[in-house]
Amino acid sequence: MHEVSICENLVTTVLKELAQGGKGAWRLKKTRLVVGLLHQIVPESLTFAYEVLTKDTPAKGSVLEIRLVPIVARCRVCGWKGEIHDSLFVCGACSGGDLETIAGKELFVESLEVEEHDG
Ligand SMILES: [Zn+2]
Repeated sequence: MHEVSICENLVTTVLKELAQGGKGAWRLKKTRLVVGLLHQIVPESLTFAYEVLTKDTPAKGSVLEIRLVPIVARCRVCGWKGEIHDSLFVCGACSGGDLETIAGKELFVESLEVEEHDG
């Protein structure tokens, strides 16, 4: 499953970030992930994989929040720019296929929400 390999990388990144935060008293509450639609992920599968992969780690119990970024492309022929809504990559103006993708390839952790323990 595509989502599991994406999630393995994600959890590795998150745990590395957490480790760099020192060994203070904290708990990870939320991971905010930005994913471009080009990755064609199923958010539910990613969330499920995240829960499984963080189960025995310091990130246990945290929530994965996914922000999906629409695919935006620009036509190299006529200069049209707009959102692509299906897998058919054609220009919305001239129907040409020579498009440059300007958004939708994103895949990164936007931020981590950490909570300090009492005591
Ligand atoms: Zn065009």
